[in-house]
Amino acid sequence: MKRTAYWNTYNKRNRNKKRVNSRTWYKNHKEHASILHREYYGKHKERIMNKLRRLRIAAVMALGGSCVRCGETDLRVLQINHILESGVIGRRRVGQNAKTKMYTDILSGNAEGRFDVRCANCNIIYEYERGRIRPHE
Ligand SMILES: [Zn+2]
Repeated sequence: MKRTAYWNTYNKRNRNKKRVNSRTWYKNHKEHASILHREYYGKHKERIMNKLRRLRIAAVMALGGSCVRCGETDLRVLQINHILESGVIGRRRVGQNAKTKMYTDILSGNAEGRFDVRCANCNIIYEYERGRIRPHE
């Protein structure tokens, strides 16, 4: 058996064991892990941001690519709107890679009816109308 083939089957067979091991390691080395994450992010920031940007654009396009209220198509101002819940609460529930999770949910069709696309203006107006944001008094 070739080395990569061996490791592929090994990894598949021991998926749960590896998951538990890495979680335990993370729990016991939180500080060190956060240093490692920061270092990794510093080294690969450009690539990570590009990947997120590409995912965001793909997700916006998958949701129609234009504001559902006014039809704006400028990608710079289009935002993904959470229909059912506030973005912050949703992100807290999902945890760390919430943005990536949201984009991949949208792209895999797992987010039916949960999101739509609005431009920045219409998104804020929507939040006002829902009473999520109060006008400045
Ligand atoms: Zn709009």
